[in-house]
Amino acid sequence: MKTKPTYITIENLNISGMMKNKYLSKAISNQRFYEFREKLFNKCKFYGIELRIADRFYASSKTCHKCGSIKEDLKLSDRVYKCSKCGNTMDRDLNASLNLRDTKSYKVA
Ligand SMILES: [Zn+2]
Repeated sequence: MKTKPTYITIENLNISGMMKNKYLSKAISNQRFYEFREKLFNKCKFYGIELRIADRFYASSKTCHKCGSIKEDLKLSDRVYKCSKCGNTMDRDLNASLNLRDTKSYKVA
């Protein structure tokens, strides 16, 4: 039975850039993010799981998981991703997660 993933992909978030946004800065703590990443890195190392850091400029949220088209006008408040090209409608975070899972734009931590 397969009990662990082969790899985990996380986003390489531009935390300092996000801290400059007054709407986001309250929700984000730089310190906590790096702590989490450090812990995840250690766990992955221990269990032999490849930790992938997606390219900072990879548009995981704006890209349609089904057809690959990019929705430039996606707002932070849009919780559901609706593709104007192929009609794909899914939860915003699920769409982004599937893109991260499948992306080839990453480096191994
Ligand atoms: Zn689409």
